[in-house]
Amino acid sequence: MVPALILVAALIAPLHIFKDEGFGEESRLQLLLHAFYAKIEPGVVWFTDKLLRSRLLSGTRPGRFVLKLIAKALWFLPHGVVIDHDAALRLIDNLPEDSHIAIGPCLCKIGAGTREEPFYTDMVIMYGAKAYKLAHPNEYKYISKEEAKDLLRKFREHNLVHEVYACFEARSWAFVVCNCDVRYCIPTRSQLTVREGVYPGPLVAEVRAEKCAGLEECGVCLKVCPFKAVVAAGDGKSSVDPAKCMGCGLCAYRCPQGARGLKPRPGYDPRFLPIHFTHPGLAEHIKPENK
Ligand code: SF4
Ligand code: SF4
Ligand code: SF4
Repeated sequence: MVPALILVAALIAPLHIFKDEGFGEESRLQLLLHAFYAKIEPGVVWFTDKLLRSRLLSGTRPGRFVLKLIAKALWFLPHGVVIDHDAALRLIDNLPEDSHIAIGPCLCKIGAGTREEPFYTDMVIMYGAKAYKLAHPNEYKYISKEEAKDLLRKFREHNLVHEVYACFEARSWAFVVCNCDVRYCIPTRSQLTVREGVYPGPLVAEVRAEKCAGLEECGVCLKVCPFKAVVAAGDGKSSVDPAKCMGCGLCAYRCPQGARGLKPRPGYDPRFLPIHFTHPGLAEHIKPENK
């Protein structure tokens, strides 16, 4: 596995110089390289799952230090940005009409040895759809935009987190809208363990305290937040730790009082997120160098 990873890095590292090409259908070389990665990805995921499950590594401070170093060394592998549900729908709507979307199995669940439903949650887009179809022709199925949006709605009902992934942290390598169960999702578990793997989205949760019933009386947001970002305010009402909030919006969707919402994250760096597709009105909140 390690030699295969080194080979992937050696093959695709030079292409990093094209990182700012934009978000779209990319070259045949990129397609083939990603199809090769898609072939070995089940092994990569299985290996990483075992690393994260090791109590010696994730349960001790020196072990977490080692995990952090490994995560940093694997920077070229897919990393994610969390997006809210409306942004995921907009992204699908804004894809060019001739681009592809395909749905396939959740590799993180396979790596963890489960096929728990919903199992087909890996929504590959653009050149990613073609790459995964090439690598796993029987497991990925092309779907329409309407089918993709229906699936996203279904995934939200299961409290799955939408995450856009790219290789090399480059917009032109954004290839998938993953729909992640944080009990299995390797990048999200890595984020929760060593703060590497997934980046926050452009929005952050906010609470209208006057509407909140209180964490003791209600506490729905506390239960549903995958990132442990719900905290108690002094008066027992629910509040947000913005440093931990990834902006998934699940708490706002589930709050029975309509007390929670999402607002723009100040000074946001969109990294590789195709933000003009996902959050077209947010330009003024984005770091100047990323506009
Ligand atoms: S990143 Fe998410 S959807 Fe993609 S394989 Fe992992 S858990 Fe499944
Ligand atoms: S779910 Fe809504 S009402 Fe319930 S504790 Fe959280 S913010 Fe308050
Ligand atoms: S506080 Fe809400 S929006 Fe933020 S990570 Fe938790 S569930 Fe998602």
